[in-house]
Amino acid sequence: MDSRSVRAATRRANAERARLEEAKKRREELMRQMEVMRNEMPRHAAELERIRKEKEDLLGCPVCRENCNATNKFPCLWECGHTVCADCMIRLVARQWTEQRSVPKKDRVDIYCPSCMFIMKRMLYPLNPNILVKNEDVLQWIRANQDH
Ligand SMILES: [Zn+2]
Ligand SMILES: [Zn+2]
Repeated sequence: MDSRSVRAATRRANAERARLEEAKKRREELMRQMEVMRNEMPRHAAELERIRKEKEDLLGCPVCRENCNATNKFPCLWECGHTVCADCMIRLVARQWTEQRSVPKKDRVDIYCPSCMFIMKRMLYPLNPNILVKNEDVLQWIRANQDH
């Protein structure tokens, strides 16, 4: 080989080496990123689980343990700050009325918050759900997340 083709061969070899170095660096960088992602996955899963639980706590009715909705089980806010679904409110009033011993029965009963025993006085039986105070915060949350 003459000196010109030797130089050309050296250039080619250097270029190859540079590409190889570049590829190696890129690969190491990607591996590092993948490792970071792998390490973060359990933390993200735990965070998702925490959010799921929180959502369940916020939406769940403490009586029937089901999620409140925007229709028959809309969230009702008590003065104590607790929330019970409308369906259970109707049943709480009906049960209290049924358990009442006096004859003739009064059409108004006191019901107790299932979470803190706060008394909601003189609820008319049968309960008209339209008079109940809706927990608008929870309701908004339900409406915003309806398809989830
Ligand atoms: Zn309920
Ligand atoms: Zn309460």
